[in-house]
Formats: sequence, structure tokens, C-alpha cells
Amino acid sequence: MIIQKFGGTSVGSAQRIKHVAQLIQDGKKKIVVLSAVSGTTNKLVEIVNALYRNEKSSVNDRISQLEGEYVALVDVLFQSQETKAKAKSLLESHWNHIRSFTLDMFTRFEERAILAQGELISTMLMQLHLEELEVKSVLIPALDFMRVDQQGEPDMWYTKSNLSRIIGAEQSCDLFITQGFICRNHFGEIDNLKRGGSDYTASIVGAAIGAEEVQIWTDIDGMHNNDPRVVKNTRPIAKLTFDEAAELAYFGAKILHPTSIVPARNAGVPVVLKNTMEPEKPGTIISNEPSGDFIKALAAKDGITAIKIKSDRMLLAYGFLRQIFEVFERHKVSIDMITTSEVAVSLTIDDDRDISELIEELGLYGKVEVDLNQTIVCIVGHMLQAEPGHAARIFDSLKEIPLRMISYGGSKNNVSILIDTEHKVKAMKALNQGLFDLGE
Ligand code: ASP
Ligand code: MG
Repeated sequence: MIIQKFGGTSVGSAQRIKHVAQLIQDGKKKIVVLSAVSGTTNKLVEIVNALYRNEKSSVNDRISQLEGEYVALVDVLFQSQETKAKAKSLLESHWNHIRSFTLDMFTRFEERAILAQGELISTMLMQLHLEELEVKSVLIPALDFMRVDQQGEPDMWYTKSNLSRIIGAEQSCDLFITQGFICRNHFGEIDNLKRGGSDYTASIVGAAIGAEEVQIWTDIDGMHNNDPRVVKNTRPIAKLTFDEAAELAYFGAKILHPTSIVPARNAGVPVVLKNTMEPEKPGTIISNEPSGDFIKALAAKDGITAIKIKSDRMLLAYGFLRQIFEVFERHKVSIDMITTSEVAVSLTIDDDRDISELIEELGLYGKVEVDLNQTIVCIVGHMLQAEPGHAARIFDSLKEIPLRMISYGGSKNNVSILIDTEHKVKAMKALNQGLFDLGE
């Protein structure tokens, strides 16, 4: 069994929904996880905000606008008058449900019930479309098996037992459709997995049933070796390990949220990133199996602050770093990169809060220098096993760039380099040529 998750843009119009309906009919037994039609969740959030402000006319206007958009979608998506009428009447019940909240009290509970409508609608439309095509599929409500515990963590046991019962009852069916994003909490109330949570649903479902693989379908052909907004030529990475993907996701590759793949990773289920618009392309496979090129990709993170604390007291002393770290702990500021010398320590933070008190306190331990507008360039691969000379290739590519900090060996998957943000574009272009031979 496989899991296929399609994001909001992949089901963003009648044409796209039809296209996805074709893609999922490849005969493989699967669960299809759908997001809301793109833009819908944002509009539901606006309705919720207007409700909190008790602006009834704005709420009604927004619902009517959404209603109009879906009427247009339904007219293109369905063929027969009968299915159109059925879809419209089902949609009507969703709008009425949302309208029912405009009166009296409005709380987080009602808010979450409204936010759930986007996925409930998109899956309803897909199921009706498949019915019209006479494709056998079963719509399985996520609210019957997706559940989070008191800590907001997925309740794997609950999901596993309910999902196998539900699927087991439909032996002759190979195609199941369900909602991403929505779930129940430990009170049994409607809740969600936070914005963008459909990937997380797919990964939890994949882990729960021990799927062969979890496919995440978006509008990009996988993770790329470099940031396409910065350099002209980039290429998709064929294979990544979960560790490498997590480093890239943290450092800026927007395609996947790092926590969303944790359940799949824990269950040893590979995650494949695929492009809805170019389904024949292989995409990126993320698994526990290391393979492929030693140096795979780079990503950059801006808005970094570098702090250097220099003190003679550090020389041959113990406990100095602990004192410094305790200052950060007291101020609840987390540290990303660290480098040390015998008389100084440099570290970076990724925080835009006012840090003047933190800096003042650090001043008790030594001379403090702060550099704003720094960028971490993170090069990802299996570095420590890499062929000799790879570090030389990195630094040779960067020979014209002033480097502020270098971090190597912290994990076997990355080399991080701190530079002034003004040199970022030049650095990323130089590495694109030096490491990947892809020019600027
Ligand atoms: N529809 C939800 C959102 O827009 C979940 C998702 O798309 O993953 O955040
Ligand atoms: Mg998304």
C-alpha cells in the first residue's frame, strides 16, 4: 500500500482535480490524502478572524464569496446535472454549518470546526468526481482515525487500530481518499495538525499502516541542490537520507517541514517528493539508505546574528562556556552554530527579538562583539565519509568570500559557513559551480 498526498495547488482548480483523479488511478492500492483547495484555508482563517471581531456582514460576505468560487468549480468539474446538483447541495451544508457559528459564543472549538471545512470539501469533491468517472473509491473520514494526544503528538496506536479496521472492512477497494490536516484531539474534539499539516497526516498514515512509501505531490520536482531563487541552474536531488533532508529543510528548502517526516522516518517508510505537473519525473526519494553523491545540496538561512565573546579568563579555564551558555538559557535564546578558540567563542542565533539585555549580561564575561545581517550557508551530504578533497572544493569555491565562521564535524551531514549576507548570492553561485558544476 502507498500513500499519496496532494497539496492545495495540486487540487487548486477543477482541471487540477481531474488531473489528480487520473494520476491516482494506476492500479496500486493506496490512501490519497488531500489538502484543501489552495487559498481556502486562508479564507476560512479570515472568516474566523471576522467572527472573533463579531463583524457579521464581513463574515457573510466572505462565505458568499467562497460559495461563488465553488459553484464555478463544480460547474466545470462535473458532467451530469445530477452530480452538479448533489455537489451543490453538499456544499450548501458546509456553508450552512459555517454560518451557524455567526451567532452567540465563538471559541477555539468553533474555530477549528470551521478550519476543517476546506479538507472536508476537497475530499468530498474528489470522491464525487471519482464516482462520476465510475472509479471505485471509498472516502474515509480522517476524523474517524486521526487523533493527537494531550501533548499534541500523534496517537499512533489509535490511528493504527482504527485505520486497519476501516480499511479491512473494504477488502475489495484499492483506492481510499481522506483529509489531510484535520484530526481529533484527546477530548475527541475536531482539531488540526497546524497550517501545512497535510504532509504530516500523510506521514502519520504511512507510518500507521507500514506503507511501502509516502508520496508528497507538489508543484516542484523534488528538493533541489541549490536555491532556484538565487542561482539559475539547479537540479533535483535523486536521493537523500532523512538526516540530510532535515538539515536542508531547516536551512531553508521550503518544500517539506522537518517535523512532518518524523513518523515516516521512525517507521522506516521512504518519503518521495513528486511533481504533479511532471509525474514522469523521478522526484526526490528520502529514506534511511545513504547513497548517491557525497555532497548533495546547499541551502542558506538569512537573518542570523553572530556574537563573539572574547576573554583571557577562558584561557586554560573550565566552566567558562557553561557560564556563557547559561546566559543564553536564562534569556531563552537558542544557539545554532558555535566555534571556539582558546580565548574566544563565537556563536550564532536566529532570533529577531531585542537582545540588548543578553548582550549586556554577556559583557560580564568578556568583550562582546555583535554582527547583524549574517547568513549561514549549509552544505549537506555525507561529509565525514566524503572523498578526500571535498573540504578543499568547498573552500576553493569560496576563496573570494570573507568567511566569518566555519563549522565542520558537528554532524556527519553538514558543513556550515557563516558569511555576511551581502556575500550570499556570490557564495551560492560560486558553490553551485565549484561543487555541482552547474554554473551560476
Ligand atoms: N489546508 C491546510 C493549510 O492550508 C493544510 C495543508 O494544506 O497542508 O494549511
Ligand atoms: Mg501545503
